Amino acid sequence: MSKTFADFSLDETLTQAIEGLGFTTPTPVQEQAIPAALEGKDLLVSSQTGSGKTAAFLLPTLNALANQDTLVPFKDRMKAVTQPNILVISPTRELAQQVCQDAIAFVRHMKGVRVAAIMGGMPFGKQIQQLKGAQVVVATPGRLLDLVNRRQIKLDMVDALIVDEADRMLDLGFSEDLEAIGDLAANRKQTLMFSATFAPRIITLAERMMNNPMRIAIETGHSTNTDITQTLHWTDGFEHKKKLLTHWLSDESVDQAVVFASTQEDTDMLAEELAEAGLSVVALHGAMPQTVRNRRLRSIREGRAKILVATDVAARGLDVPTISHVINFGLPMKNEDYVHRIGRTGRAGRTGNAITLATYRERGKIRALEDFLDARLNVSEIEGLEPSPPPARGARDGGGRGRDGGRGGFGGGRGRDGGGRSFGGGRGGDRPQRSFDDKPRGERPSYGDDRPKRDFGDRPAPRREGGFGDRPQRSFDDRPKRDFGDRPQRSFDDRPKRDFGDRPAPRREGGF
Ligand code: AMP
Repeated sequence: MSKTFADFSLDETLTQAIEGLGFTTPTPVQEQAIPAALEGKDLLVSSQTGSGKTAAFLLPTLNALANQDTLVPFKDRMKAVTQPNILVISPTRELAQQVCQDAIAFVRHMKGVRVAAIMGGMPFGKQIQQLKGAQVVVATPGRLLDLVNRRQIKLDMVDALIVDEADRMLDLGFSEDLEAIGDLAANRKQTLMFSATFAPRIITLAERMMNNPMRIAIETGHSTNTDITQTLHWTDGFEHKKKLLTHWLSDESVDQAVVFASTQEDTDMLAEELAEAGLSVVALHGAMPQTVRNRRLRSIREGRAKILVATDVAARGLDVPTISHVINFGLPMKNEDYVHRIGRTGRAGRTGNAITLATYRERGKIRALEDFLDARLNVSEIEGLEPSPPPARGARDGGGRGRDGGRGGFGGGRGRDGGGRSFGGGRGGDRPQRSFDDKPRGERPSYGDDRPKRDFGDRPAPRREGGFGDRPQRSFDDRPKRDFGDRPQRSFDDRPKRDFGDRPAPRREGGF
């Protein structure tokens, strides 16, 4: 018989918060992880985004905070260096913020518990202020270690260390930082590690950081959410993709959408063109200052912007139930990221749509993705926007078919393609086609503060001469490293020297 939250005998304040959030039944990962974590076991859990994993690690660890008598009184805490009892390490700022918000929601009825998020991109002064006296800290690794070194936080009173999305953490080159954090929190009683997979490198990390962990595998396949309809469109190339994107974004079923692009350059370019076509859109990638990233995420969360165009920085952590569509304009680097991307829709019990746009040249990638998912994506065509037939065997791949030969803006508003090529001019289709230019302009928010002109203005003109045939083909393996993880470079010279002896500087491709 399936469990209820009452079966966990959580503190009354947490039960109240769970009720307030409208959670009635524990998800499978919660059902397995919460009782084991409450017993104090170390856990290595494989679970996907959207599975409810955040509550699975927060509820049992926060439960220990319920007995405030064992904790240092609030006024003393405010005077001393911050010594959290619960430390959650997140790979990205966006995820750290989301986890912090969840923790705040869970401790709502607990008196005197402070939760703080610390992450790169925030001014140190403000962060140190927020950190004061926090018992629960959610942090990205680099900034946490910086603050340890500045003696603003000590990890010697950490009882529970949680490593969220450990696979992503390793992808981003945080392995040594994690171990350093593990050493600093050596007095801890419990370590919980969550990862999309149990890949050998995760097992190795777990062995180094954990004490004979119990493994919990949530058998949901790689795509957890059957409420998401996944569709694949074969395309002739970039311009054809833009027409399909236009088609989908003008669909009336779109409440809010996230469009994922492969590079920061594509992200800016698509957002700019969609905005010019009159859509309510914000762009997000790792080269933007954190304050801008936060503002843009807020405008999506609050529904002021309808479309988010983003790199994989937005693939995790974004939890907005009104996102009805995810469109993969560019394929993700890693199959796991596909799962994370599409997990932005179909949240909170709703249905969602995930549309992937791929060229025939990307067949290999799509097959590998389907093998990973252990499922076939439904191939679909839009009348009037069908792809050219696949190239004959032996013919040179993508030999510059005519369809994509022109450059085109969205909605015909820019006239870049010499007129008449852009979608929206009433080309066929099984649903009424609407040019973005028909949309009331009122739908577009004022970008006064949220969308500083310079973000796009000083961008070098996109290299998009000609159509797909001319577009330099990049294999996913030889992509410039900076695209991966989307973390802007950080100069190590600026970083305060750490106390970690002769540990070599961590490899930070595209640092956070
Ligand atoms: P997560 O995998 O932690 O990102 O959670 C995915 C979403 O599911 C979030 O919106 C949570 O608020 C929600 N959620 C988590 N646990 C439950 C539950 N037991 N019942 C309903 N919704 C939940």
